[in-house]
Amino acid sequence: MIAALRNLLFPAICLACHAEIADQRKLLCPCCAGALVPLDPTSRCLICFSALIDEIRICEGCRLQRPKITRATAPFSDTGPAKELLERFLSGHLILKELLSAYMTFQFLKLDLPYPDRIVPVPESSLRRWERGFSPSELLADRVGQILERPVSKLLGRYSGDFPQRRLSIEKRKALQPSCFFWKKKEDLLGETILLVDDRMGTSATLSACAAVLSEGFAARVYGLTFCIEELF
Ligand SMILES: [Zn+2]
Ligand SMILES: [Zn+2]
Repeated sequence: MIAALRNLLFPAICLACHAEIADQRKLLCPCCAGALVPLDPTSRCLICFSALIDEIRICEGCRLQRPKITRATAPFSDTGPAKELLERFLSGHLILKELLSAYMTFQFLKLDLPYPDRIVPVPESSLRRWERGFSPSELLADRVGQILERPVSKLLGRYSGDFPQRRLSIEKRKALQPSCFFWKKKEDLLGETILLVDDRMGTSATLSACAAVLSEGFAARVYGLTFCIEELF
């Protein structure tokens, strides 16, 4: 009776499509929850995680120019309910970091890669952070670090004046120079496995630019993990 009254007064709304949902304990309607099927890594490039078309294991782009990142992955394409959830999170619905980071960690563990020694968030410029009021990548990195029981090191900074990637052409994204990023706190990473965490990736250029800086600290391998990957063709 109380539950029925509560549903009437405060109908639960699906976080992705805004449809009413009967069960207030759920964040998503059955339709959106069912559409959240993590990407199959076997159909993606072993390095940059772009969709393979005619290629086997490694995409043409990575064959032509091997990225600095050892391997990148993401549970979802930047479309549908996953994109909606990410946009809600980026607009300040911070509780969603729990759901997003759970999917991300699940996808990373599925690849059965060496366990990371530490987690490093991909930084945004201080101007961008000030505009938004929080750092999505740091929030996600903190949760991924808690789930994997690994330390989170905010080692990198990003220069202001470096536009967000989504406003740049694919060519400009690919040409993103490592100099966009700098050591905030240089550390000896000799032999370490690092997991870079960000909210979304387009090309793996941002992750690679960060990996290039981390390689100066002699990290053995640098993996990248985001919630969404944009499908660029
Ligand atoms: Zn929905
Ligand atoms: Zn690739």
